[in-house]
Amino acid sequence: MNLKLLIKKNVQLSRCPNCNTIAALRRSRSRNVWERLMKKAKISPYFCQSCGWRGRLFTYKLSRNYIKLIILYIFLMTVTAYIVQKFLKSYFD
Ligand SMILES: [Zn+2]
Repeated sequence: MNLKLLIKKNVQLSRCPNCNTIAALRRSRSRNVWERLMKKAKISPYFCQSCGWRGRLFTYKLSRNYIKLIILYIFLMTVTAYIVQKFLKSYFD
């Protein structure tokens, strides 16, 4: 199983969070140290060519495996909670 949890997302092809236009986002330049640090954390400044929106976008997204893993954990926790509850009920009755 591929355990890569984060995969790079092509922001330039994704939708603008403000006007919903596809593929209008362009990377804007890091203007100061803070923005360069954010860039290191994979949060890059972008701007929208269509509406002029500016903002930061996380350029990675969680992979499907990660979501599957979370679902599995939630499922296991629910099952465990159910079993423990049943056990405690039968124990104290
Ligand atoms: Zn826009």
